Amino acid sequence: MTQTLFREDAYRTECTATVTALSEQGLVLDRTVFYPLGGGQAGDAGVLLLADGRELAITDTRKGKNDEGQFTEAICHLPALPDPAASVLDHLLNAGLKIGDVVTARVDWARRHRLMRFHTTTHLLCHLVPQLVNGCSITPDYARLDFSMTDPLDKDALTAGIARLVAAAHPLAVGSISDAELDANPALVKSMSVQPPRGSGQVRTIRIGGPGPDQMIDLQPCGGTHVANTSEIGAVVVTKIEKKSATTRRVVLGFAA
Ligand SMILES: [Zn+2]
Repeated sequence: MTQTLFREDAYRTECTATVTALSEQGLVLDRTVFYPLGGGQAGDAGVLLLADGRELAITDTRKGKNDEGQFTEAICHLPALPDPAASVLDHLLNAGLKIGDVVTARVDWARRHRLMRFHTTTHLLCHLVPQLVNGCSITPDYARLDFSMTDPLDKDALTAGIARLVAAAHPLAVGSISDAELDANPALVKSMSVQPPRGSGQVRTIRIGGPGPDQMIDLQPCGGTHVANTSEIGAVVVTKIEKKSATTRRVVLGFAA
């Protein structure tokens, strides 16, 4: 398994780590600052600095899968390949990597910070739009959130709502609740498409707003990486609203030009 340093500190940009596995799924470390694709948020990119000073470019990060296709506790770092059809394992072995090597994992911070700004904004949208979410995709360049609803949404009103919450500089706090507490409060789950990060008996939560009950903006289970304060989001706007289906409205977010 890989220790998930990004869950404890989303602002940590690098760590030293030991290679624990090499396969067609990528390179596994005993701990990492790289977030793997999940919960709608794209996997991280960056570099691994090898002991001899060389850099191995990493283009994506994924959760490992076992032979049955179920996710494991391993996090796989995917190297940039000279040719997309090339073998991942051959590329890692040709780079001279072996189990037990100590490397420095350094995340592409500019890219990750854009993902964090967008991810926190999608939670602000959950405050502004009370309907359930049935789709989510967060990339470095745009994010989209699909709401299960038939009423129209107003692009400018949502952009103004986001700007107001950003200007109010609400703090974020990472917390956790037990599986039993979550089962007793199903309304905390705002997404029909993303399962809460269960597994250990505790579910990680993201709270936006101060500690007082009247200061809360949003609270939901989430395994993703977030900014520490909504002021850090800056100029994120709604670029488009699409009627994806009769019962789905899609909100697309982008950075203001
Ligand atoms: Zn989230």
